[in-house]
Order: sequence, then structure tokens, then C-alpha cells
Amino acid sequence: STSLFAAVEMAPRDPILGLNEAFNAEKNPAKVNLGVGVYFGDDGKIPLLAAVKAAEKARLEAQPPRGYQPIEGTPAYNGAVQNLMFGKDSELLAAGRAVTCQCLGGTGALKVGADYLKRLLPDASVYISDPSWENHRALFEGAGFPVKEYAYYDAATRGVNFAGMKAALAAMPAKSIVVLHACCHNPTGADLTVAQWKEVVAAIKERNLVAFIDMAYQGFADGIKEDAAALDLFAASGLQFFVSSSFSKSFSLYGERVGALTIVTDSKDESARVLSQVKRVIRTNYSNPPTHGGAVVAAVLSSPELRQMWEDELGGMRDRIRAMRTSLVANLKAEGAPNFDFINVQRGMFSYTGLTAAQVEKMRADYGIYAVGTGRICVAALNTKNIGYVAKAIAAVLK
Ligand code: PLP
Repeated sequence: STSLFAAVEMAPRDPILGLNEAFNAEKNPAKVNLGVGVYFGDDGKIPLLAAVKAAEKARLEAQPPRGYQPIEGTPAYNGAVQNLMFGKDSELLAAGRAVTCQCLGGTGALKVGADYLKRLLPDASVYISDPSWENHRALFEGAGFPVKEYAYYDAATRGVNFAGMKAALAAMPAKSIVVLHACCHNPTGADLTVAQWKEVVAAIKERNLVAFIDMAYQGFADGIKEDAAALDLFAASGLQFFVSSSFSKSFSLYGERVGALTIVTDSKDESARVLSQVKRVIRTNYSNPPTHGGAVVAAVLSSPELRQMWEDELGGMRDRIRAMRTSLVANLKAEGAPNFDFINVQRGMFSYTGLTAAQVEKMRADYGIYAVGTGRICVAALNTKNIGYVAKAIAAVLK
């Protein structure tokens, strides 16, 4: 053939999104999708938060014009993001040490940050946790970095292999970029303790490394402030660092693509120069961010009533996930499965169940229950109607 595309090969399916396609085609009426990284309510639906509804209604009624936003987004949104992460009274913010750009979700923030880092540190390597969110490697490789892994998960304890992680940090060349999960580690649900974070910050300082903190789940573990504990330690350290943050989960605004890149510099003067460079990265990519999602988030965070409403709804999501963890452990016990108490210790949306690829495949074939081949399940996809069925299936494939 003479077609331009004649030699183009089929790319592998995205492991998670490919799972959704397969799930949609599944004929088993009892089917359950535990593969996705999305929060569902007990009714099995993605919630539209009341705070979001109220802000959207006001915005629609105001009929604002849809001019271009600034390249970095609006001060209202970016300021709200900074306050949420560092607290209103943060010294770092008062000193003008943080620059924030509204980005297309957490992924967009990682990409803008990666592209900027490639200009700043062209010869650096990027280190991601073993394992990590499946898009980290491809994203940083796509930005031109070699991507390596640092020890993180310990399958034996189902916790963090902290000695291994520290050894890996101590062996990294200066100016290496270390991608860290602020909380609710995806995919394992295993987080560092505050004491361990202190050691990580010290190691990063000692080795002269560059932290890129990915915070996609603020408020899903213990609370908005509690989940930013790692950021507080970095803020107090005097280090420069990067943060990608996302409202996909915490505002249930997945498709609106609302996130932010925040870069912490050494001074107000540095911030101005860094922002000018990041704006060039954005301008030559998508020019400026969309209006709606960011305006809704900014409106909710700046109104005391809507903010309270949102905090209550976020707390409700957090509590429901916890309740599903407890219930899954109890149901598995009742089914005579081996001990799954660790599910109650894991944090955030996911649980690394320890199920093998073959057991995950058997759940799919025999029960129409879909999970990631690594054994990761989305606890936030469990509900009072499907949890008994899921526990039965897990217990059965373990026999
Ligand atoms: N980072 C991590 C660790 C995630 O789990 C996710 C979402 O699954 C993202 C980033 C991306 O978030 P967003 O959907 O806002 O792009």
C-alpha cells in the first residue's frame, strides 16, 4: 500500500481504559468493574456534588463571556489551590515562593511540569515508585527523561519497604527527579508515615534531589489538612519542589480536567522568572486552560457556605470508602477467606489485594468482576449491593 499509515502498528491498549471497554462489552448481568480509578456512590453512580451543582447554577445564571483565560489560569483559582495545599497562613505563600498554573487535571500538571523540567534539567533521570500510577513512566519518558524505579512496596508486609526506599534515595545522582505520592498511593494504598516523610525530605535535601509530589487524592485519606502533611514538611524544608494536584476525585469533576501545577522556588523574584518559563511551555502546548471547571472550583473554595458543603461531601466520600474497606474485610472473613485485615490499613481509593493475575482473570471469567491484573481493586466501586458478591468471588478464586 502507498498509504502514509500503511506501516503503522496497533499500539497496546491502555491497561485501565482497555479494561473499561472490555467491561462495557461484558454480558454477565452481575458484572462489577473494580478496575477504574473513579469514586462511585452507594448507588453505583459518579456523584455530582451539591456544592458543584450550586456553583454551576450560579455560573450559568450569570452567563459569563467565554474569553481566553490567562495562560496560567486565573488568580482566583490558583490562589485557592495554593491555600488548599499549604494553608491560608503559609509563610511560603506570603513570601511569594509558590507559582501555580491551572492545568488539565493532574495528568496535565505532570506533563507541564515534566516539559519544563526537561528544559531546566535536560540530563536528569526521573525516579518513580515501584510500582506507581501506570501513566507516570510513559508520561516522563514521553517528555524525554530516562525513567527508573525506587523500591517502595513490600508485598510481604503489604506496606512500604522503607529501608529499600531510603537506600534508593541515597544512591540517586544529584538533581535526579523523584516522583512521590503525597497520600493514597496509587496503586498500593500504602502511604509513608509522617516520621518517614521527615526522613525522605532530609534525604532529598542531603542528596540535592528534586521532588515532584503528585497529589491526586487530597482529602481521601484522613482529611484535607492531614493529607497535606508531606507538603507541610517540604514547605518547611526550604527546598524547591514541584507539586501536581487534581480536583478530579476530590470534586468529582473527572471530565472537566481541573488540576494545577505548583512550583516552589527560593524567592518571589525566582517565582516570577520560573512562571514566565512555564507559561512558554503552556502557550506552545494548549495555550491556556478551559474556563468552566476552574471557575466552579474557585467559586466553591472561595464561598464559606459552598466550601463547608464541599468539605462535608468530601468527608462523606472518605467515610464511605472506609466503610467499604471494613465491610469487605468482614465479608471475606465470613466467606472463610484468609486474613484481609490489611485492607483496613491501606488508604485512599485502592487496595492492592495480593490477588494474582490468574486469580483476577478467574474473577472476570467466572463472575464478570473486573480488576487490574496486578490485583489492584478500586474500593470506591464497591457498594452495599455488590460487596457480598465480590467477597464471595474473591474467596472462591483463592480456594
Ligand atoms: N496521579 C495519580 C497518582 C493518579 O492516581 C491520577 C488519577 O488516576 C492522576 C495523577 C491523574 O489525575 P487526573 O485524572 O486529574 O489527570
